Amino acid sequence: MSVWAVLVAAGRGERLGADRPKAFVRLGELPLLAEPLRRLDQSEWVDAVVVVAPPEWEEPAILLAEEIGASKVTACVTGGEARADSVRVGVAEVPEDAAVILVHDAARPILPDDVIGRLIEALAEGFDGAVPALPLADTVKRVDGELVVATLDRSQLVAVQTPQAFVAPVLRAAVGGRGTDCASLVEQAGGRIRIVPGDERLLKVTTPADLERVAAWL
Ligand code: C5P
Repeated sequence: MSVWAVLVAAGRGERLGADRPKAFVRLGELPLLAEPLRRLDQSEWVDAVVVVAPPEWEEPAILLAEEIGASKVTACVTGGEARADSVRVGVAEVPEDAAVILVHDAARPILPDDVIGRLIEALAEGFDGAVPALPLADTVKRVDGELVVATLDRSQLVAVQTPQAFVAPVLRAAVGGRGTDCASLVEQAGGRIRIVPGDERLLKVTTPADLERVAAWL
């Protein structure tokens, strides 16, 4: 069974306020991208990695992969306007005979290997996809502008992270759609998705404060 990882790193990351795309801001000694790339490359669950880079940052991405000795990187492609476009471009690089596709946000640099194990095990149980999830600490309300319309039942809600794992043909068939994550595309196509325990360290870097938190966990 071959597991391919698509690492989406083509976002601009404007909320970080840096002079470069988020994947290339410094985290420790290296660009942020190095951390999730190294972790995927070293994972025993992962056979090959496709990196989706921002336009004009393909070459620095390839050089970085070489610098850290990420030997499983088989392709580096240019991302699109929205995350879903970048995922589609990355998935197109995965060969037909791949069994599983794992899609991960480069913006979540700290990727614990046991999360990948839990996802793959869920697929082995017969699910079409699996996603890491955390319970919500806050109460969530539906609003219409500034008016609260409803308070949602928190016990039925989770916050979902990446990596997200899918049976390869199922994801391939769903990537044409629009959604904020890959699982929503598979759900729309009728796929069954299982949640597995997520990890606080999979925090998505959005602001400079997030970057500081993640740097402290390195
Ligand atoms: O923008 P956001 O932080 O939600 O992006 C999540 C992940 O998707 C990031 O790793 C980012 O690099 C990636 N992305 C992408 N192409 C885009 C937008 C986001 O690869 N056009």
